[in-house]
Amino acid sequence: MLFHNSLDFAQKLDAEDPLGAYRDEFHFPKMHGKEVIYFTGNSLGLQPKRTQRYIDEIMTDWRELAVEGHFHASKPWWDYHERLAEPLAKVVGAIPKEVCVMNTLTVNLHFLMASFFTPTPDRFIILCEEKAFPSDQYMLQSQVRWHGLEPEEAIVTLKKRDGEHFWRTEDVLSKIEEIGDGLALIFMGGVNYYNGQFFDMKAITQAGKSVGAKVGWDLAHAVGNVAMELHNWEIDFAAWCSYKYMNSGPGNASGIFVHEKHLENKAIPRLEGWWGTKKETRFLMKPQFEPMPSADAWQVSNPPVLSLAPYLASLEMFDEVGMYALIEKRNRLTTYLEFILKEIGREVNGEFEIITPLERGCQLSVFLHGEGRPLFDFLMKNGVIVDWREPNVIRLAPAPFYCSYSDMYQFGQLLKRGILSKTANG
Ligand SMILES: *Cc1c(COP(=O)(O)O)cnc(C)c1O
Repeated sequence: MLFHNSLDFAQKLDAEDPLGAYRDEFHFPKMHGKEVIYFTGNSLGLQPKRTQRYIDEIMTDWRELAVEGHFHASKPWWDYHERLAEPLAKVVGAIPKEVCVMNTLTVNLHFLMASFFTPTPDRFIILCEEKAFPSDQYMLQSQVRWHGLEPEEAIVTLKKRDGEHFWRTEDVLSKIEEIGDGLALIFMGGVNYYNGQFFDMKAITQAGKSVGAKVGWDLAHAVGNVAMELHNWEIDFAAWCSYKYMNSGPGNASGIFVHEKHLENKAIPRLEGWWGTKKETRFLMKPQFEPMPSADAWQVSNPPVLSLAPYLASLEMFDEVGMYALIEKRNRLTTYLEFILKEIGREVNGEFEIITPLERGCQLSVFLHGEGRPLFDFLMKNGVIVDWREPNVIRLAPAPFYCSYSDMYQFGQLLKRGILSKTANG
């Protein structure tokens, strides 16, 4: 499609947008009496208006039923989490029994590592991307030490080529080949939080399998953003948070995926608790643990219902829209933003550069040449919520659920003004 950097054109795209009505399903922060242009759905998604109702329902049931709510609430609490599995499985390309919502992301990664990182003297290497999200680095380092290994010997990081801003799949694959039999686990972010790159999860997983390694993914920036087939790609395990593109509220519960082939494996090591044992016999309070034949076996505690309620509200919206439609809009919206950035870039003589490769979700990471911080401050003061990463990167994530084409146009105009006024001020 031929794009134009004009308000008329952006408004025309908005009018034709099949998801346009969903913008009104979200609460937008306001600045100077106007809704902000929100680019940080990759950090904290906006609040869906229907979420309040889902939370109120729990509060009412708790008030009126107290303990009886476990079995007699309008949506009983004891198996409340089961309602999330089916819609969430569709979002990540899994079958429902492979998915469970529990705990928070890094916590879940530790639990999953207990099952899937079982180093031996010959096979103990973990491969991950360099400069992975800090929590993932801390998680891996502490796991390795927990097993009596040193991070320097057990963790191999994938480098980018000199002068390049993204990883090449061929380099990832040859590194896997090189480590070969020594590789215990590949653990990477499906979409890198910094440059927005969507890794070729399928090819990397296949390569990992072929050398006998386990393969796990942190999908914090991938879930609700890119199309995945966790089941068909034969990923061993994955986990993600719900507060970024999943719009489920600050610090909210995490989803896990464990491939079907591991679900009936009695030998798999696991850190267990009472909500992982068979629900049919759970309340007999028997001493033996009998795992649920699903990812629920990893569920340690009873479900945090007040956290699950907003997640369920959000999943209802994902189910209404479907990932396919969301990704169609994402592609057009992000391409439009990219087009606008390039247009503005020409007008201001290349003051910045997009470092996100074409394999991506909705996020574009923009490297600012020269002084970036004042420009970032200018945008924030003028009603654009963006995110700043050292040394000089702003990340723009136009979440397709609620961002509009007009937002992209207005942002371009502000960006130009910000850069020109900065230049004018010397
Ligand atoms: C956001 C994010 C996290 C956050 O972890 P929490 O345990 O939810 O605080 C972890 N890893 C990645 C890659 C992230 O993007």
